[in-house]
Amino acid sequence: MKLPRRAFLRLATRAAALPAVSRIAWAQGYPARPITFNVPFAAGGPSDAMARVMGERMRGALGQPILIENVVGAAGSIGVGRVAHAPPDGYTVSVGHWSTHVVNGAIYDLNYDLLKDLVPVVRLPSNPQLIVSKKNVPAANLKELIAWLKANESRTAAGNAGAGSASHIAEIYFQNITGTRFTLVPYRGTGPALNDLVAGQIDLILDQASNSMAQVRAGTIKAYAVTAKTRLPSLPEIPTVDEAGAPGLYISVWYGLWVPKGTPKDVIAKLGDAAIAAMADPKVQTRMADFGLEMPPPEQQTPEALGALQKAEIEKWWPIIKAASIKAE
Ligand code: ASP
Repeated sequence: MKLPRRAFLRLATRAAALPAVSRIAWAQGYPARPITFNVPFAAGGPSDAMARVMGERMRGALGQPILIENVVGAAGSIGVGRVAHAPPDGYTVSVGHWSTHVVNGAIYDLNYDLLKDLVPVVRLPSNPQLIVSKKNVPAANLKELIAWLKANESRTAAGNAGAGSASHIAEIYFQNITGTRFTLVPYRGTGPALNDLVAGQIDLILDQASNSMAQVRAGTIKAYAVTAKTRLPSLPEIPTVDEAGAPGLYISVWYGLWVPKGTPKDVIAKLGDAAIAAMADPKVQTRMADFGLEMPPPEQQTPEALGALQKAEIEKWWPIIKAASIKAE
C-alpha cells in the first residue's frame, strides 16, 4: 500500500503549490462533477442508508449527483483507507461512524492515521443499538434470552459487520456483561447479517436501531433492549439495557463525513452546509426519527465539533478496546 500513499502526497503537494487565487477560483467552481460517498459496509445496511438519505437531499444543494460506492471489508477500514489516500479535492467523501473512525484505530494496523490523514466535515445523526434475535427464539424478555443463550452455548451465533465494527464490539461487551458465549459471525455489513437473522440462519445481532427497526415493527425479528440510558421515542415499548438486564451496555453509533487532509476549506464548508441543510429538512428529520436516529444539536454540526467528539471517543474507547484484546480478522 506504499504507492497510493505516495500518489496521495504528490497530489497534496501539487494542490498546495497552486497559487492562492487559482485555489479559490477552483473551490468556487466546486462541485463541477458528481461526488462519491464512500460507504465502507455492504449496501442495504445502516451506513449505506445514512449515505443514501443524506446524499439524496444534499444533491439539491450541491447541484451534482452523489454516487454511493460500497468499499467493504475489515470492518470498514478498507473503505476509509481509500478516502484517506484519495486526492484532496472534495470528490471522495468518507461516510463513517463511531467504529470506523474511532474503534478501528485500536484494532487494525492501519496504513493511514484517522486523525491526521482525514479531516472532519460535519457530524451526522446517531443511534443506539437494539438487541435483536430471530423470531423463533423462545424468550419473552432479555433475561430469558440470556438464559436461553447460556443453555444453548455451543449452538448459538451472532452476526456482525466484522472485527471492530459497532455490532462486533457490542456483542463482545454483551457477552462480558451477561456471562454468555456464542459464535461471532462476520459479514460485510449488518444489512446482509439482518437478512440472515430474518431467515433464521443466525440467532442474534446487536444491531443499529436504524437497521433493524423496520423488521422489529413488522414482527419478523424480536427486540429485547436498546443500548442507551433512555428508551427510543420511535420504539417506546422496548426497554433500556438497564431496565432489561444488561446494565451499562451503552453504545451510541454517531455518524459523520470526512474528507482527505488538504481539502480546501471552502470545499469542506460547501459539503458541510449541504449536509446541515439536509438535516434541517423536516422530511429528512421525520425519516431519521422514525428509524431511531437522533439529529446532532445545531451547535454540534461543525467540523470542530465532530473532530472534538472523535478525539474524546478515541481517548475513552482505545484503552477499553485494547484491554479487551480484540483482534483483527
Ligand atoms: N455500521 C454497522 C456496524 O458496525 C455495519 C453496517 O453499516 O452495515 O455494525
